[in-house]
Amino acid sequence: MVDKIGVWMTCRMSEYLQTELAKRFNVFKSWEIPSKTDFFNQHSRSIRAVVGNGAHGADSSLIESLPYLEIISSHSSGLDKIDLVKCKEKIIRVTSTPDALTDEVADLAILLILATLRKICAGDQYVRNRMWNQGDFESTTRVSGKPVGIIGLGRIGSAIAKRLEAFCCSISYYSRSEKPNSGYKYYPNVIELAINCEILVIACSLSQSTRHIINREVIDALGPKGFLINIARGGHVDERELVLALVERRLGGAGLDVFEHEPEVPDQLIHLDNVVLSPHVGACTAETRMAMADLVVANLVAHFSDQPLITPVI
Ligand code: NAP
Repeated sequence: MVDKIGVWMTCRMSEYLQTELAKRFNVFKSWEIPSKTDFFNQHSRSIRAVVGNGAHGADSSLIESLPYLEIISSHSSGLDKIDLVKCKEKIIRVTSTPDALTDEVADLAILLILATLRKICAGDQYVRNRMWNQGDFESTTRVSGKPVGIIGLGRIGSAIAKRLEAFCCSISYYSRSEKPNSGYKYYPNVIELAINCEILVIACSLSQSTRHIINREVIDALGPKGFLINIARGGHVDERELVLALVERRLGGAGLDVFEHEPEVPDQLIHLDNVVLSPHVGACTAETRMAMADLVVANLVAHFSDQPLITPVI
């Protein structure tokens, strides 16, 4: 039954995912199609599913172009690139791959904290550039025991907190709702959280209410001894203000996996020694990519076999 169903892939993803989809569906690869308008005019009737990811989701115009669309199966946990309001309106199901990537992203947050405060990348360059024999490398900043604030104590935020307990860090957080059973201190707003921590980790989802949740006021509350770690979405941070604060040393440093205008990264960040940068690779291990791909396919198969979705969002 399922092998005639058309699936629109919004961008190139892993070979494994493409192969697994092609075994079961008629896959249309957006990057191989020069004129989407012509293509949709001819084929939109057969496309009943979209597979996208955290960068290339399904906006209102794509959804409107596919009148027979029933489900969007996203290869991501973040859903900020999917027009969820339109999906609800048109009764289009949406699935994500939440738990498959939680540990990987939490691991990367810890990695960025350690690498930023202990200046691992600069130290690596110091050794490679044969500078060690000219003198010892500079002192860095201790991680163990530091107060850490987490914005968004969801799946990833909680996994980060659990890891930081092993570093004897005192953990506090800000979320929409207080989590009394977490055992961590809750602050009702980001400013108070920033004042009371030295490492501020962004782990919440991106929406209108969390866009630029990190602004000048929050950065100044964190201060010159503070570090900002972002493994969530670039849009959470007013990047212009962040760069200014880093250049002016009003902020101690930053570890960033995500950027406001990916894949563009501000020039100043490239040249700063108080930042560690990674190219949005929170979930990019072979193991997690495969588990996410399996979940994307399993959700589609469940939907088209009239079975309950495995990880439904709506
Ligand atoms: P999740 O379990 O849904 O948790 C999201 C958290 O965000 C919740 O704690 C929620 O608070 C909080 N939140 C939502 N709106 C908020 C607001 N207006 N103010 C304060 N907190 C708010 O999601 P997750 O699986 O942990 O993933 C979190 C995010 O990580 C994703 O949305 C995605 O953007 C990002 N991510 C990045 C990568 C990467 O490669 N770097 C990979 C995967 C995911 P409540 O609990 O109080 O509702």
